Amino acid sequence: DEGWRREEIFHNSFLMKGIEHDEALDFCVKNSDNNGLPPIAVGPNEGKYLQLQAKAIGAKRILELGTLGGYSTIWLARALPDDGELITCEFSPKHAEVASQNIEHAGLSSKVKVLVGPAAEALAKMDSAQKFDFVFMDADKAGYPAYLDYCKTLVRKGGVIIMDNMVFGGRVSDPEVKDNKNIDGLRKTLEDLGNSSEFEATTLQTVGARSWDGFTFVLRV
Ligand code: SAM
Repeated sequence: DEGWRREEIFHNSFLMKGIEHDEALDFCVKNSDNNGLPPIAVGPNEGKYLQLQAKAIGAKRILELGTLGGYSTIWLARALPDDGELITCEFSPKHAEVASQNIEHAGLSSKVKVLVGPAAEALAKMDSAQKFDFVFMDADKAGYPAYLDYCKTLVRKGGVIIMDNMVFGGRVSDPEVKDNKNIDGLRKTLEDLGNSSEFEATTLQTVGARSWDGFTFVLRV
């Protein structure tokens, strides 16, 4: 089943144990659906995982690439201390508008800045003197190698980058899949990580909201 199984995940009481899916997250899901956004956000178990990873390293500055309706943004912004900041980049003005509503509803507008436009343009304008502690990469997969390159200067040593969709239903490692710019982008990302002295990384496969995928966990060393 390649389809979205969000309802199943939401009602799986085992996965939901310890995962506080409160009114603001429910609102985010419903408002995103009502505005016609595609149901491709991370699942609640993955949102909580991202939040815990950010908390574990005491992240104060978080960067997200690919906002959609702000679902993962809300999970991540809740990991921040009072003086923390999250910058999230979204190509689609419509997605960014819905995300801003959802972030506002969650009471997180003061900590979250939504930048509208291609992530590569936003990254090119960022000041490398202001390092990020944590990055969640979840925008266009063809762009990942360039985004990873920016992380060399924008992420502090000891900072963490988590990249979504790195397994893509097995397509990344399937030699039959050719001439696909998203898959090529993910393959190049893995190759670059393997050749890099700035990063250490591993990929964990996930069975979640989408049937089979994976997060790559990257440490900036
Ligand atoms: N992180 C979100 C969540 O889990 O709630 C889901 C993000 S969705 C998988 C990917 C998003 O990336 C879409 O909203 C899409 O419009 C956006 N996107 C695609 N290409 C982009 C680009 N070049 N720059 C910034 N955002 C992009």
